[in-house]
Amino acid sequence: MPTIALIAHDDKKDDLVAFIQHHLNIFQRCTLLGTGTTGGRIYDETGLAVRRMLSGPLGGDAQIAALVAEGQIDAVIFLLDPLNAHPHEPDIQGLLRVCNVHNVPLATNLATAQMILDTLMAA
Ligand code: PGA
Repeated sequence: MPTIALIAHDDKKDDLVAFIQHHLNIFQRCTLLGTGTTGGRIYDETGLAVRRMLSGPLGGDAQIAALVAEGQIDAVIFLLDPLNAHPHEPDIQGLLRVCNVHNVPLATNLATAQMILDTLMAA
């Protein structure tokens, strides 16, 4: 059962929730964790159990980065909002960097998220 970290910036949260709802049968078979607000929305709107870390601006991305570094995460789906600035940009870049350091699959848009899901489930 893969462990997937789920994060979406505010303008992308609707897209992530809709994606999870569309693939509910797959996400039901995964262990899920997410940043605070994203995780709360996923739980509220899908009923899936999500381990909620802190909200992104309060350190949630950094918490997830630490878990990636420890080898506890199989894939990260992080829907970035490329059109707005974020106060926690250093933490965002840190999470992306740690995924690349440890070769952990990282999707920053829905097209890649779909590919990750297909591959994880085919394994
Ligand atoms: P949030 O954090 O889910 O708590 O909104 C996401 C982020 O901004 O990184």
